[in-house]
Amino acid sequence: MELKYTRKNVYKEVDGKELEAIYNYAEGYKSFLNNSKTERDAARAAEKLALEKGYAPFSFGEKLKPGDKRYFINRHKNVFLIKVGTESVEENGIRIMVAHVDSPRLDLKPNPIYEDSGLCYFKTHYYGGIKKYQWTTIPLALHGVVMLPGGKSVEVCVGEDESDPVFCITDILPHLGAEQASKTLASAISGESLNAVIGGLPSVGDEEDKEAVKSAILKLLNKKYGLTEVDFQCSELCLVPAGRARDVGFDASLIASYGHDDKVCAYPEMTALFESESSPHTLVAVFADKEEVGSDGTTGAQSKIICDVIDTIACSLGANPIITRYNSKCISADVTAGYDPEYASAYEKRNSTYIHCGAAVTKYTGSRGKSGTNDAHAEFMGWLRDIFEENGVIWQIGELGAIDVGGGGTVAKFFSNLGIDTVDVGVPVLSMHAPYELISKADVYSLYKACLAFCK
Ligand code: MN
Ligand code: MN
Repeated sequence: MELKYTRKNVYKEVDGKELEAIYNYAEGYKSFLNNSKTERDAARAAEKLALEKGYAPFSFGEKLKPGDKRYFINRHKNVFLIKVGTESVEENGIRIMVAHVDSPRLDLKPNPIYEDSGLCYFKTHYYGGIKKYQWTTIPLALHGVVMLPGGKSVEVCVGEDESDPVFCITDILPHLGAEQASKTLASAISGESLNAVIGGLPSVGDEEDKEAVKSAILKLLNKKYGLTEVDFQCSELCLVPAGRARDVGFDASLIASYGHDDKVCAYPEMTALFESESSPHTLVAVFADKEEVGSDGTTGAQSKIICDVIDTIACSLGANPIITRYNSKCISADVTAGYDPEYASAYEKRNSTYIHCGAAVTKYTGSRGKSGTNDAHAEFMGWLRDIFEENGVIWQIGELGAIDVGGGGTVAKFFSNLGIDTVDVGVPVLSMHAPYELISKADVYSLYKACLAFCK
């Protein structure tokens, strides 16, 4: 019997075979990540994988039966994967796993295009908590959809193919940057200055045209997509860091990428669900949108649609939805702040989660004395520990940073507010919300094993 608790490093615990499994799993994850930069992209990628696994579209009126596999995509952005088990959902509840698939980025404003001093720009409005200076002077790709008059939609993705152009936000050169350098990090780059260069080739022939570059760009866009300037008012277009996920370190033990938060949790949930076809439990994976801006709206975790889908499943199986929810269990899978020795003062090191140390359990989040959080009760924590230990899941527990340094929240509380026992289990991340976030291959694999244990 171990009297003292010691955190385990996954890479020190596993044998060669499991190490290979960890590295192999990371390849599938990177591929999903590269195709899931926005929530719309992630919903499309999840749909493709679900169809490959024999999942069929869910409809609200249908009668479900054990063995059914369904998916529901709410307004192109919010995904539900449903696998119906053999046991009674009223007695045993539904096993729910939730993650979010939106990530911080720069959205285009409704009237985004303007020309100044021979260059054409997109005006942006940042989405989610970003450090603005990190988004200048990096290659950006444009993802999203534009509605043309009459209901036709046009998908846009520019900047991901090596042969594509990218977009870029400028910064002042250090030689002339003394005034900027005297400002604080938070104020040096303003939100209104996050304007991306989108072209500079003027149209010729009309000497009177004061916006010849903008005219030329609009001509290009009209030719390629059939759109005119006013169509941007009915669009959702996002600038995200261009490029693909990359291994980090000589040993390739980590992955750097845009959007680990929270695709690094969505992918383990989804793959664990796909692997759990023979589980007696009814399993539901939810990919929520809008987490980075408060989970509001029709596609966010606060939307009533979440409860409606769960209740519809229960009713369709002949169960009382209230009792079903009461007996359900939920893993809210979201990233947490991994301990970063470079910024040690932001953490309390005995209660932090560490890179390579496995699935990161967070009993509560919140700020200013645990305000605004789910707090998984001891009985539920004990239940979770037992299933993790029985299934060889390497896991750790920690808080999101030191007390009163800041804080944060996840969608956990929106599920526990429905009367469902919920706990945060995720992956520790370094440089969270940066254009290039860092995670450990061992940790995403550990979360996959944790989700498998939960589904079993
Ligand atoms: Mn998150
Ligand atoms: Mn986040």
